[in-house]
Amino acid sequence: MISVEEALIEILSHVRPLEPERVPILEALDRVLVEEIISDTDIPPFDNSAMDGYAVRAADVAAATPESPVRLTVVGSVAAGYVAGVRVEPGTAVRIMTGAPLPTGADAVVPIENTGDADRPKMARLEAPSNVVEVRKAVKPGDHVRPAGEDVRRGERVLEPGRLIRPQEIGVLASLGRETVLVHRRPKVAILATGDELLEVHEPLAPGKIRNSNEYTNAALVARSGGIPIRLGIARDNVADLRAKIRAGLEQGADLFLTSGGVSVGDYDVVKDVLGAEGQMQFWQVNMKPGKPLAFGLLPGGVPLIGLPGNPVSAMVSFEQFARPAILKMLGHTDLDKPTVRAILDEPIHNSGRRGYVRVIVTRREGRYHARTTGEQGSGVLTSMAKANGLAVIPEGNYLLAAGSEVTVQMLDWPEGKGLTL
Ligand code: AMP
Ligand code: MG
Repeated sequence: MISVEEALIEILSHVRPLEPERVPILEALDRVLVEEIISDTDIPPFDNSAMDGYAVRAADVAAATPESPVRLTVVGSVAAGYVAGVRVEPGTAVRIMTGAPLPTGADAVVPIENTGDADRPKMARLEAPSNVVEVRKAVKPGDHVRPAGEDVRRGERVLEPGRLIRPQEIGVLASLGRETVLVHRRPKVAILATGDELLEVHEPLAPGKIRNSNEYTNAALVARSGGIPIRLGIARDNVADLRAKIRAGLEQGADLFLTSGGVSVGDYDVVKDVLGAEGQMQFWQVNMKPGKPLAFGLLPGGVPLIGLPGNPVSAMVSFEQFARPAILKMLGHTDLDKPTVRAILDEPIHNSGRRGYVRVIVTRREGRYHARTTGEQGSGVLTSMAKANGLAVIPEGNYLLAAGSEVTVQMLDWPEGKGLTL
C-alpha cells in the first residue's frame, strides 16, 4: 500500500496549472496571477498633502514655535480632487486638504493642529476663512507631503506571475487602472456520488436508503478550494450508469472528476472497474485511516479521476489530502499544504498504525494550542467533522500518542476570533 505522500505525488504529477483567462479584477480574488504587472504611472501621480493644514515654504516657518508663531498670508485653498490656482510665494500659505496636490512653490504642509486654526471650530473656519494663519511649529521640506511615486514608481514591476491575488492586490490593480487581469482558469470539477442506497436530499427516507450527503460536502469543498463544482448527481452501482454519468461529465468539459463510494472491495464497488476499462487506473489504496480506499486514475483525454471513499468522513479527509492540492495546483498555486499548528494533546489518541487523521477541537490557552478529540471517530459519523476544527495527523507506525504529547494538526478552521461575540 502506498503512503499519503506517494499518492499525492502521483496525483499531482498528472495535474497541471490551467491556461490563463482574463477576468475583471474582482473575479481574480484568491486566484493566481499569470502576467507581470508593470506600472505605467507613478502612484501617487503627484506630490500631495498627507494632512489637513497649510501648504507652506518650510524656510518661512523654520523658526516657528508656540511662543513665537510665524504669521503667513493665506492666498487660497485647495481640496482633494482640485489643483490650486495660486503659487505659494514667500510669506504666504495655501489652505490644503488631505490628498490635494501640493501647490507650486510649497515644499511642506503644516498640520492644522499646529496652527491658530486649531483654536477655531470648524464652522467658524468655514464661514470666515482666515486671511492670515499663525504657524506654531516648524516643518522641514517634505514634511506631511506624500511625494509622487512614493508607493509605486512608473516602470516598476508591482506584481509578478505566481502572486496570489488578495483584496490588497486587487486594490493595487485598481490604483494602476487595471480593469482586468490574467489569472489561471478555475478547474471544473465534476462531482459524482455512487450508490444504490442514495436518496436525493428532498426525498423521504425509505428502507435501506440514506441521503446523499457526499455530493454536498464535495461541492462545498470544491467551491472553497476555488474550483467550479459540476454536480452530476448519483450514479447507481452498475457499470452502465456510472459510465454514462462519467461521459456526461467529460462532455461538460470537466478538468477533474471526484467520485465518492464504490472504491472498496464490496461486490458492487464498480468505480475501479469503470476506471480500469475506460481509462487508466494508477492506484486504489492508501496507507491512511480514515480513507484507505482511494482510487486514482486517468479518464480518456487524461482527465484525472479521484475516487474518494464513500464514508462521509473518509471522503472529506481524503478530499483535504488529495483533491484540494490537485485543485490548487490547477489554479496555479504553489503552496498546496493545509495550514498546520503544533498542539498539545489533552487526551491520549489511539491509532491503527496507519497514517491517522483524527478529528479534533483545537483551542488556544496561554499562548499554546491544545487539541482534544471530537469523541466517536467512526468514519460514518459526519457530525464529528462538524464539531472539529482540525485533523490531528498521527504518523504511521504509531499506536498510541500520550496525553501531553505534541501533535501536528491540519487546521480546517481557526480557533482565534472567538473573543468577540455579538
Ligand atoms: P462504499 O464505499 O460505496 O461501500 O460506501 C461506504 C459507505 O459510505 C456506505 O455506508 C455508503 O452508504 C456510504 N456512502 C457512500 N456514498 C455516500 C454518499 N454520497 N452520501 C452519504 N453516504 C455515502
Ligand atoms: Mg457504494
